[in-house]
Amino acid sequence: MTEWMAGAGGGLHFDTLAAHAGAPSDTVGGAHPTVQPIVTASSFWYESADTLDRVLGGEEPGYVYARYANPTVRALEEAVAALEQAAGAVAFASGMAAIQAAVGLFAQRPGDTLFVSEDCYGGTYTLVASILAEQGLRVRFVDLFDLPQLEFRLAAEHPKALLFEVLTNPLQRVVDATAVVEAAHRAGAGVVIDATFSPPPIFQGLRLGADVVVHSATKYLGGHGDVTAGVAACGDPARAAELHTAGKLTGAVLGPHEAYLVLRGIRTLGLRVERQSATALSLAHALCADARIERVYYPGLPGDPGHAGAGRLFRGGAAGGVLSFAIRGADRERVLRTLERFRLVRPAPTLGDCLSLVLYPVIASHRGLTPEQRAQRGIHDNILRFSAGLEDPRDLLADLDRALG
Ligand SMILES: *Cc1c(COP(=O)(O)O)cnc(C)c1O
Repeated sequence: MTEWMAGAGGGLHFDTLAAHAGAPSDTVGGAHPTVQPIVTASSFWYESADTLDRVLGGEEPGYVYARYANPTVRALEEAVAALEQAAGAVAFASGMAAIQAAVGLFAQRPGDTLFVSEDCYGGTYTLVASILAEQGLRVRFVDLFDLPQLEFRLAAEHPKALLFEVLTNPLQRVVDATAVVEAAHRAGAGVVIDATFSPPPIFQGLRLGADVVVHSATKYLGGHGDVTAGVAACGDPARAAELHTAGKLTGAVLGPHEAYLVLRGIRTLGLRVERQSATALSLAHALCADARIERVYYPGLPGDPGHAGAGRLFRGGAAGGVLSFAIRGADRERVLRTLERFRLVRPAPTLGDCLSLVLYPVIASHRGLTPEQRAQRGIHDNILRFSAGLEDPRDLLADLDRALG
């Protein structure tokens, strides 16, 4: 991962950027703090009323009111822009807020059509199908694994935007993101990629041509399970400015304490994702060889249908820290009891933390679907999703062995 040169970062390697990007520019008593202070003031003042006037008028950069701009939040935004090689990035109160703002750049008026991948995150599905649809957007779910059909629908329905995730949840199928972005752009649609499951350094959606990349920073960017946050990065500075205005006016901005935690998480992002991907791959191999396991879903595995796609899309072929597996012959009851036998791994519904986490999609992320809808998507009752943490993989394997009984 570290051999990769990041153009927008002045030619620095990824881990160097992750350690330094968003360094503080303001001094404290004339000295330069090495890390960004948490600035909690909700307003700022200037000696010169002329300066205040210019800052309020947007003629001069500066801070006046925390909802408009905050130094700690700004440092995080600079760091994310560097990691995504973006013209600008904006932090939001959560991943959901970032998604709503990003979609709103393209599809906002009643009658606008929005295409959303049918495999999207459950919260996204409900947001677009309820609130956005009720506001008058024509929301259509599309199958990104049927490219001819997607191209046909793009040409016929002229969506303003397409929103999708590169790695589907929970089966970790790999979307041919390059082809999908090209097809959407040919049809004049803006492209928003939710890259929560495929963070930099393994994936950079703007380099692929996406207009906006969003993350639930609650997951890998924060990385420690102690913050809720979202970010959106854009290749076009005018769009970044529009996103900033959207955050400022809707009030879905991130607070300085949260921004600090995400920024601190970013310092170790490269190391964590590299280790979590390696652990996920070693667990996937071990589970493949386990007679109690019917099938492993992880594109890092050579036999996985998404393996070639992951090799093309992801830096170093690393496939991220999330895998899923089906327990042979297990029904819902047996899976619930399996969850209770983990001693180290926590059955908590998130991913990307230092702690390994296991999730049962049937009762969590995909609870809202009918059994038929789940079956249609291959989300069977015996499937668990596993997010690899930073533990020694041997201890994780022992815990999996115990839980599988
Ligand atoms: C968690 C998640 C979200 C929502 O993020 P929040 O920070 O919880 O608002 C969106 N997309 C994906 C893929 C997620 O995993």
